Amino acid sequence: MQQTLVLIKPDGLKKSLTGNILTRLSETKLEIAAAKMVRVSKELAESHYGHMKDKPFFGELIGYIMGELHDRRKVLALVYYGENAIKKVRELSGATNPEEADPVSIRGAYGRVTTKGVYENVLHTSTNEEEAEREIKLWFKPDEIIFDVYETEIITREVVKERVWKKK
Ligand code: UDP
Ligand code: MG
Repeated sequence: MQQTLVLIKPDGLKKSLTGNILTRLSETKLEIAAAKMVRVSKELAESHYGHMKDKPFFGELIGYIMGELHDRRKVLALVYYGENAIKKVRELSGATNPEEADPVSIRGAYGRVTTKGVYENVLHTSTNEEEAEREIKLWFKPDEIIFDVYETEIITREVVKERVWKKK
């Protein structure tokens, strides 16, 4: 059994592809273990794509995942769980470059290459178990996932600074 992170990227949301993508992913018969809309901060974006920071398109990539190319800072993050989850989801998504992706894959059907050379490929999917663990732990807290996909522990924080709704 495996878990994998799926992100419906800002272009996927803006193109109103959420339903189509989730329907395609349901072909895998995997279980959705977590789902939430995320307002992507620069820190989160840079941490998610930290291993790409030497790439010439890194700046554009961060802007893309932060929603700067699609007017809204939002991404739909999901965890899929089940047998061979990583490979099943990866196969359905298709190759990174939408022009090279199988035309019936999600990226092949809906992705595009921008004139600036960024692959707007509508979704992110983890490539291996190590990456999935790093990414799931980055995007989700243990209680946001319906069961413990990784070991947890209880800690006590001394000072907690949190943004809350302003009192009237
Ligand atoms: N990317 C790009 N140009 C490239 C390679 C990657 O724009 O030449 C973008 C693309 O959006 C991709 C993301 O960077 O999804 C992360 O790249 P990675 O190689 O990890 O591809 P993925 O795992 O998403 O298939
Ligand atoms: Mg990758």
